[in-house]
Amino acid sequence: RPTIGVLALQGDVREHLAALTGAGADARPVRRPGELDAVDGLVIPGGESTTISKLVDIFELREPIDKRIADGMPVYGSCAGMIMLATEVLDGRADQRGFAGIDMTVRRNAFGRQVDSFEAPVEITGVPGGGFHAVFIRAPWVERVGAGVEVIGTVTGGPAAERIVAVRQGNLLATSFHPELTGDPRVHAYFVELARTA
Ligand code: GLN
Repeated sequence: RPTIGVLALQGDVREHLAALTGAGADARPVRRPGELDAVDGLVIPGGESTTISKLVDIFELREPIDKRIADGMPVYGSCAGMIMLATEVLDGRADQRGFAGIDMTVRRNAFGRQVDSFEAPVEITGVPGGGFHAVFIRAPWVERVGAGVEVIGTVTGGPAAERIVAVRQGNLLATSFHPELTGDPRVHAYFVELARTA
């Protein structure tokens, strides 16, 4: 059973802990460098990337997380967590900083600033069982990926069809949407398996 941490500074931490537990992980919150040392993988939850960015510095987690990512620790970022993993952020705040682990350009609040949330069908390569009913909340989408990045998920219908909403680069996984909110365990199961075999 891999031990998976959820970065517990801000955002929907509890929902990710529950989803990871349901997917067979030993899930625990991470707020201190010592807690980070004890996990095999990390989830960066949805929330507000500008706030998470600030708190990562205040809690002195930036350097330890950068280092674990460089050493190959599996990380899954959902929504704000996707933004925290991107090398480039459009419509971000000048002072927000992520871990720059996935070579991609994301646009913050891309699905429209007026639309707080919407739902759309998404297919994910490597995740069996058919399409996802994906929930997006002031979500980013991916506008560019580098050569080493696999596009694994796109919207398959509606006004945002074809938009890239899930990617993987090595042990790093990111989705624009929130599988932790819809009771569909497959993305967390995919990540737990990634962390188990990494
Ligand atoms: N709009 C948020 C941000 O920029 C992300 C929203 C979310 O995580 N649900 O960080």
